[in-house]
Amino acid sequence: MTRRLVVVLVLAAALVAVCAAAWRITWLRGIDVLRQQAAVRADRTATALSDTLERYESLSYLVANHPAVGEALDTGSLAAIARADHYLEDANAHAHADVTYIIRADGLCVAASNWGQPDSFVGAQYRFRPYFVDAIGARVGRFFGIGTVSHVPGYYISQPVYRNGHIVGAAVLKLNLEWFPGTDANEPLFVVDKHGVIFLSSVGAWKYRAVRAVPDAVAASIEQTRQYAGAPINRLPMTPVRALDAADARIVRVGARGASPYYLLAERAVPGPGWQLMTLAPVDSVVDDARNATAAVGFGFISLCLLGFYWRTRRARLRDMVKGRARLQKAYAELNRRVEERTADLSAANAQLQTEVAERSRAERELRAAHAELLQTSKLAALGQMAAGITHELNQPLAALRTFSDNTRVLIERGELADARDNLEAIGALTDRMGKITNQLKLFVGRARPGNARSPVAAALRNALHLLQERLQRVSLQVRMCGPECMLDPQAWTKPCDANGYAPVDLATEQAELAAYCDGLRLEQALINLIANALDALESMAAPRLWIDIDAGSNTVTITVRDNGPGIPVDVLPRLFEPFFTTKETGKGLGLGLAIASSIARDCGGSLSARNEAEGGAAFVLALRRAADSTVAAGSTAAAPPDAARPR
Ligand code: ADP
Repeated sequence: MTRRLVVVLVLAAALVAVCAAAWRITWLRGIDVLRQQAAVRADRTATALSDTLERYESLSYLVANHPAVGEALDTGSLAAIARADHYLEDANAHAHADVTYIIRADGLCVAASNWGQPDSFVGAQYRFRPYFVDAIGARVGRFFGIGTVSHVPGYYISQPVYRNGHIVGAAVLKLNLEWFPGTDANEPLFVVDKHGVIFLSSVGAWKYRAVRAVPDAVAASIEQTRQYAGAPINRLPMTPVRALDAADARIVRVGARGASPYYLLAERAVPGPGWQLMTLAPVDSVVDDARNATAAVGFGFISLCLLGFYWRTRRARLRDMVKGRARLQKAYAELNRRVEERTADLSAANAQLQTEVAERSRAERELRAAHAELLQTSKLAALGQMAAGITHELNQPLAALRTFSDNTRVLIERGELADARDNLEAIGALTDRMGKITNQLKLFVGRARPGNARSPVAAALRNALHLLQERLQRVSLQVRMCGPECMLDPQAWTKPCDANGYAPVDLATEQAELAAYCDGLRLEQALINLIANALDALESMAAPRLWIDIDAGSNTVTITVRDNGPGIPVDVLPRLFEPFFTTKETGKGLGLGLAIASSIARDCGGSLSARNEAEGGAAFVLALRRAADSTVAAGSTAAAPPDAARPR
């Protein structure tokens, strides 16, 4: 921080030094050029003025020595004066002087080039004029003043006029020099007399002002000679500012302090009595040049500093970048090494994985082949079992057919032909039913879609019981129908009500109202399977009992088939509904009954479940969707068979 501050301070000091040097060098060079230009101008102007004055001085001498002039002054005759007037007029015109005139020794003007004009000098008194005094004193008179008659400023040159060795008067040439300094106010030019009073100036306002203090005596003398027509002599505020190495010029300020401009002043002596030519050249341009050069140098210096700073920063950044790149390359090499290590591990793992995959693929192929083989074997086994299943399903109606046909034979032998006909009709119905069973088996195999057929529950149960009535003989059966619509009939069609509250139910007449969504024949088939299983279980029981409960809920109908058999072994329960699962000895069971019943329940949108009862025995619950009573299809396949169909 401190180092940076020191650098900034040093740079600031250097900036100031460089700017100061630039200012000084440019200033000095500019002033030198300006001085040289001013010197050339001053020399040229001074030479021009000197030449003019000397030329007219010679002319005044010639006029003074002209015979007509001497005669006029000496004799004062009118003719001589007239000749002198004409001569002066002619000479003045040719010399381009202002006025040429001659003055008698007593100071009276006797002849003049403007003799014929109203403001003629003739007759005027010039005794007090210094140039007259000089001429009478045998000296050349040189004087600048304002004309007493014409009131026009002019330069007067006078020469003594000799006649017979005596001065008889003076010849005077008045020149108008007002044109000489010009009117350029930007580069003023003026001539001061020996007292420092400006009498010729390119700036009109500076005329008759003194560039230095004029003593009172001198001022009084100027006043007395009416040199400047009595105008007050004031100071021109010209203040020296600085002297230069070259002595012929210096820097001054002209005007009131503050806004007054700076000039380079050059002075030259000119032929007049103590006259000085002064030229002023404004130094503004030099100041401007110096200022511009300083600004340019300062700007350049600052730019260089900034460039240097930028270069340093960039170099530092490049250094950092190089270092960073080296670090990065190192890290990259390290990373590469690690990646290679890891890749080697991965490659090994990959190779192992590929080996495993190949092994697994081979195992899978073998498994698939084994599976296909097994499937083929299973299919064949299933085919055999299915054939056995069909036999199983048809055994029940076949047994019934046998009974019906035996009974019919007996009835025919007795001559009870009407009953025999009824039995034959029942036999026909059973044959239809067998056909339907085989169809159902087909449906089972093909997973029939659940239909919307409806059937009365009581009718299906009655048909099932009807088919199994032979086997039911030795079992105590109790049927209970319960629910809002239960219509209990005191006359049970099978067995009387017992002490457990089972009311006798007449399934033939009443419960046509209670219906479930299920095809009548399929419902019947499910019930037959459940009841037949219960009868199988009850075979070895001493007091076999079978309960069938039909419970009607608002949306469901539940049929529970319960027995007091040995119940279902715990290990059998999970496999109960598997097709072809049976615990029965060969030839007795095919393991299809519960699978078919379960399939029917599912197809009808219901379910079949099994449980062991706490008091012993098994219970199978068939839950179906309850159908609205009015929707029970008339003439359903499960419609109650006519009483005549009952075996007699
Ligand atoms: P199957 O009757 O041909 O054996 P099922 O599918 O009908 O085939 O029955 C499967 C098994 O369920 C039976 O072998 C039996 O072990 C058992 N089972 C069915 N009903 C009962 C029941 N009421 N009591 C005890 N076990 C039963």
